[in-house]
Amino acid sequence: MSNGSSNRENSQGEGGMEAVYAPEVVPLSLCDYPGEPAIVIFFSGCNYRCGYCQNWRIRDQKQANLTDLARLERFLEGGKLVTACKVTGGEPLLQLGALTRIAKKAKSLGYKFGIDTNGAFPDRLSVLLPMLDLVSIDVKTALDDVEYRKVTGVENPVVSRVVESIKISLASRAFVDLRMVVIPGINDNPEVIRSISRDLIGMGYVEKASAGSASFTLVEFVPENSSGEYRGLQNPSVGDLVRLARMMSLRNVRVSHRALGYCVSLDRVHPDHGHGDPSD
Ligand code: SF4
Repeated sequence: MSNGSSNRENSQGEGGMEAVYAPEVVPLSLCDYPGEPAIVIFFSGCNYRCGYCQNWRIRDQKQANLTDLARLERFLEGGKLVTACKVTGGEPLLQLGALTRIAKKAKSLGYKFGIDTNGAFPDRLSVLLPMLDLVSIDVKTALDDVEYRKVTGVENPVVSRVVESIKISLASRAFVDLRMVVIPGINDNPEVIRSISRDLIGMGYVEKASAGSASFTLVEFVPENSSGEYRGLQNPSVGDLVRLARMMSLRNVRVSHRALGYCVSLDRVHPDHGHGDPSD
């Protein structure tokens, strides 16, 4: 990974505490873990440099982002009204030791446990998969290095590793949510969408989705939350997302957009969306 050298595993903080780059914790989220009120922990550090990144402010591992791992464990013990824990980022698998410790703690407390990942570390994912109830994997565009380079901002995105992560996740017991942030003019091309559908069918998505254990979510790109030139781009409308979702011809396709109150199954979106409705 071109940026991997700047990302570190767990560190020893002051006084010998075991520290993790984790700048933010949300004590109660109703929209990050499907159907479960959840504690969400943000890890920093990432091997990609996506222009659309919504978490670019916490993406780099800085000294100021170091947190005592034991403090996070105590935080989990004090969870109120939550039934799940999710670790997002950044790329959580860059700090596998800390992530495994948090997973063990969450499971010991009876929480469901999940992660978001960009899919670039299948070997590390395979270590954690037996503990995961949910794995959300980015599908940033068509699964080839040329297209991925445009979105991830790195020379060598190694898409073969992302493909491997999707395959092992689809073969696991975890619920798999594949997520694509739709950026108009960058990855909203019908051929990109059809190519993703073909690849996922070949990887066993249909069987897992038919069993109710996988979904594909098309997510609104939000320019205001991005950085650099991406701030000047347009967000897709609900209709844009629905049109792409219908092209996928996959089961359990969802769209996530602020105008819908975030995540909705395609079959629950009003039929007028995607047919030139002026309210798109
Ligand atoms: S993989 Fe995720 S966290 Fe990393 S740069 Fe891309 S959007 Fe941001």
